Amino acid sequence: MRIWGVLLAGIIFVGMTVGAVGVAAVAPNLAVVPSVPSALSSEQAVSVRRGQLRDEVSLFGEGLQLRDPAGGVLVSGRGLVSYALSFDGIRWTIRDKASGRLVAVSLGRTLEGSGQMLRIDLRPQRSSFRLIGRLKGRGELIALVPFEQYVAGVIGSELPKDWPLEVFKAQAVAARSFALARMRSASAQALEKKRGWFFEGTTTDQMFDDDRSHERAVQAARETAGVTMVEHGEVVSTHYHSDCGGQTDEPATVWGGGPRFGAARDVGCPLNPRAKWRLVRSFQEIQAALQHKQILPTRFQLASLQVTSRSAAGRALSVAVVDAVSGRSFSVTGERLREALGFSTLKSTLFEVKRSAADPTGVEFTGRGFGHGSGLCQWGARSLALSGKGYREILNHYYPRLQITER
Ligand SMILES: [Zn+2]
Repeated sequence: MRIWGVLLAGIIFVGMTVGAVGVAAVAPNLAVVPSVPSALSSEQAVSVRRGQLRDEVSLFGEGLQLRDPAGGVLVSGRGLVSYALSFDGIRWTIRDKASGRLVAVSLGRTLEGSGQMLRIDLRPQRSSFRLIGRLKGRGELIALVPFEQYVAGVIGSELPKDWPLEVFKAQAVAARSFALARMRSASAQALEKKRGWFFEGTTTDQMFDDDRSHERAVQAARETAGVTMVEHGEVVSTHYHSDCGGQTDEPATVWGGGPRFGAARDVGCPLNPRAKWRLVRSFQEIQAALQHKQILPTRFQLASLQVTSRSAAGRALSVAVVDAVSGRSFSVTGERLREALGFSTLKSTLFEVKRSAADPTGVEFTGRGFGHGSGLCQWGARSLALSGKGYREILNHYYPRLQITER
């Protein structure tokens, strides 16, 4: 999961103060708060982008219904049907796949549908859906998923299915709170209206795959249904990640903004078999990656790279990069560097960096952990669950400033 781009500060000239933010030791607030009245029922649909459609969309299903943007029924069939759909920039045309017979035409770029045994472009579709046509390029497939089914699909995609149930439950509450906080923000609602979906089904928002909402994920979502993390009664966007490497940092430290939910020390994350990592990259590769993301100007020639400020947990908050020609120095935030090199490549900002012994024109990163390091640490949560802790204790550990609502 990655935080929204607006918090990721771009280039900052060295000399500007990018202070390391300390981690405050805050006693957990153990007050029991009533459940937040939710405008969102478990059956209300969440829109999640699944991917791009083919030029000619193939739609297969039983009891298939298709509706136009105003809700008018275009197709309402019994039995198995197979249609071919195409969008010409103005209208959708729906034809019977086998005979080519015209079935319906719908003005506008959006279609919604439902049915059983659905396959769209041969992929199983386990919920209602929305198709968004594009004048140029391929359209978008949006899943319209009942909210708690979305939570189960997220946690089933995030965690290995043999992990303890209490980790799944803690993860369910974190994923639910993250989603609800987003969906209640006016800017996210405006964006959904404009583009047609709330969430990407990738690490940009939360991983989501309906096919992976296995039994344990569904059970965890059901047994914590409606439970969220709040502060002053408001649901909080609770970030989480794979492995904190020993200590978490708050969003304000990692991104320079966001909710304040506290930080935690962890002893269990080294159980992750890939807790430590190493990455060698040439200056040329790093420079190209930063230029590709427009973090560095095109004329820049990277000559050196060093960490200039760190969080209390040791994360690289800012990294100075120096131009070989002008000697000019830029500061790049640690998370921006991760974004440029790939979040799965530079796995965390908890690294040391030095000249590579193998390649003098490059550097070697040696690091710990995986992910931004803010909020719940999945490997640490697993360790806590294996030592007998329940999901509420796990949540209190990672979000000490927040409160857990009752069901
Ligand atoms: Zn951890």
